[in-house]
Amino acid sequence: MQNNKHYLFSYGILQLKEVQIEVFGRILQGEKDKLPNYKLDKLKISDTEVLKKSGREFHPVAIKTNSPNDIVEGFIFEIQTPELYVADKLKGSDYKRVLATLSSGKQAWVYTAKNEKSLSTIAYNISQIRTRIENACKQSNRNPDEIKLLLATKTVSSDRITEAFKCGETLIAENKVQEIRQKFSDLSEYRFEQHFIGHLQTNKIKEILKYNVSCIQTIDRMELVEKLHNRLSLENKAMDILIQVNTSNEASKFGISPGDTLQFIQQVSKFNTLNIKGLMTIGLFSSDNDKVRECFKLLKSIQQEVIRNKIPNVEMKELSMGMSGDLEIAIEEGATIIRVGTAIFGQRQYPDSYYWNENA
Ligand SMILES: *Cc1c(COP(=O)(O)O)cnc(C)c1O
Repeated sequence: MQNNKHYLFSYGILQLKEVQIEVFGRILQGEKDKLPNYKLDKLKISDTEVLKKSGREFHPVAIKTNSPNDIVEGFIFEIQTPELYVADKLKGSDYKRVLATLSSGKQAWVYTAKNEKSLSTIAYNISQIRTRIENACKQSNRNPDEIKLLLATKTVSSDRITEAFKCGETLIAENKVQEIRQKFSDLSEYRFEQHFIGHLQTNKIKEILKYNVSCIQTIDRMELVEKLHNRLSLENKAMDILIQVNTSNEASKFGISPGDTLQFIQQVSKFNTLNIKGLMTIGLFSSDNDKVRECFKLLKSIQQEVIRNKIPNVEMKELSMGMSGDLEIAIEEGATIIRVGTAIFGQRQYPDSYYWNENA
């Protein structure tokens, strides 16, 4: 481009001709283009001029997520240097201008948030987790598309869950049937997938089947298997399940002991209402990464053992392991589902023992 010419990518009101005339005194020449690795969010405006002019506290903003699934649609315009400064003034002090490569291959100026803290924290936290997933994948030569991010939403209000949906997240999980019930109608207008990751009491089976739970990740005893199967048969339904393995061998955690898992899966495979999709574990809580890694390696080795046994009706694709503190290690060891709560929604009011030791 010539020195005084620039490309400007707009995903907001600058796409409108009337706004262009008001701001630049002319209609801009432009065409449709796309901004990959970004997604739209809301920015809380603090610039008083901008607030006064627009009368709105939140304005759209493109934020970098580094996720190839994210894309922002808009227009690329050719403008001149003085016009660029006019645009800067219009956006005000809450935005900064950065150069980005569009889908067309052209380099264009894009306005993004000057201070990422002024993004909704959930959106910001999700973008941080996505970056952590990508970095862990680079470490282990994996494709980020292989890893599903599951949001552990225990104690999180429906409002905050929908904020995550608006960031493009689609997979959540609860630990208690009661919480699924409480949030069910609030979330009913959204499309999402829900798993169950708590300790399931047999007297809650009937109720859990009323909701949109597509996978129970915590199958850990024969009594539960039999009762779940009976109820599913009665209702003519099927259910995806994961087998929960107690890889850390802690008495405080539920799950089949590693040595019994193969035999347990052989038994469970006979129940035709239950589709075994893989394994789940909660790693050891320890600052000793090697010990944490041992848990995930163990789950992976059990998966391989089950695969070698070629049990009919058993799929072993999914390894649900890794949470806020240890997701990198889990990804390096082969996780396909990571379950993240705290790092996205913040600290919970109750200790996890409340969810892991008591009955759901
Ligand atoms: C709460 C919970 C998580 C998420 O834990 P964080 O450390 O908050 O990310 C994952 N798995 C299970 C089973 C949980 O109960």
